[in-house]
Amino acid sequence: MIHFTCDLCGKTLVAHQELRYVVKIDVYSALNPVEMYDEELDKDPLEDVSDLLPSSEEAHEGPQAEEGDFQTFRYDLCPACHAEFIKNPLGRPVPRKFGISGN
Ligand SMILES: [Zn+2]
Repeated sequence: MIHFTCDLCGKTLVAHQELRYVVKIDVYSALNPVEMYDEELDKDPLEDVSDLLPSSEEAHEGPQAEEGDFQTFRYDLCPACHAEFIKNPLGRPVPRKFGISGN
């Protein structure tokens, strides 16, 4: 039986018995020309692109942190933590609303 552990609360999740959510976060520099294939490539486009496309997204061969600024994070979440996560994925301070309109 395969067990997973929620990366937020530590709850044990049994595969195939309990719902589990996977969070994947890709972080990379906005200067990385990943979104510039068709335009703004005014210098040696073929050479650059072939160098900067090291692998497909599904290559799960260990950490990818060595490719420049590119980092991938992966977490398992239980349903309760997933519900909280999607409300505030970046963990920002949540402004409290007590129904005071200020008018
Ligand atoms: Zn949890």
